[in-house]
Amino acid sequence: MDLILFGPPGAGKGTQAKRLVAAHDIPQISTGDLMRAERKSGSELGQRFDEFMSQGKLVPDAMVIELMEKRLTREDAKRGAIFDGFPRTVAQAEALDALLAKLGRQIDKVVVIDVAREEIVERITGRRLCEETGREYHIRYNPPPPDVKVTQRGDDTEETAHKRYDTFEQNTLPVLPHYEAKGLVAKVDGVGALDEVTTRIEAVLPR
Ligand code: AMP
Repeated sequence: MDLILFGPPGAGKGTQAKRLVAAHDIPQISTGDLMRAERKSGSELGQRFDEFMSQGKLVPDAMVIELMEKRLTREDAKRGAIFDGFPRTVAQAEALDALLAKLGRQIDKVVVIDVAREEIVERITGRRLCEETGREYHIRYNPPPPDVKVTQRGDDTEETAHKRYDTFEQNTLPVLPHYEAKGLVAKVDGVGALDEVTTRIEAVLPR
């Protein structure tokens, strides 16, 4: 199964993707995570990603598509993938269709995780990460235990959260009609307990 988790930054795509990985035995492919890993490695490519990421701007399509092509041809993604934070532009969606077609596959479902802007800004600014375990917390809704060392993503400020939401509305929302025309889109309410949202997503996935 090839599944796109679609929604604004901070909607819970990453969190829900991780929960679906175990149940469906396919990897999560997050372009944001791939870029952060590249940035952390200190490579020149990572520095180029950072110029865009730190400002809440989209990384140019050609760079993102190249990154995806490399990731998608790895062994673990042979039976499908959960795309998280990709595609974010119509050009990326078209490139993904072409990449999957080459592998004899196609997108099976696009699940929109629906969350309003005010809620998004609160979620993003309170988000914390334990780099050691990769576990995510929120200072209000899911506070880290006192002995767990957490960090905040550099782009999780209020200003950048608004900018990223603007970018989502301007560049990423126009991706939906591409999949709506194929009858692949289902929308779920992204507000509620993590388990509830997972159940809503599972309910719309192809059997
Ligand atoms: P995310 O972790 O998905 O919220 O992504 C963090 C940042 O990485 C975004 O604000 C963009 O700067 C960049 N990024 C991640 N995925 C993409 C993508 N598919 N296209 C362009 N930029 C991306």
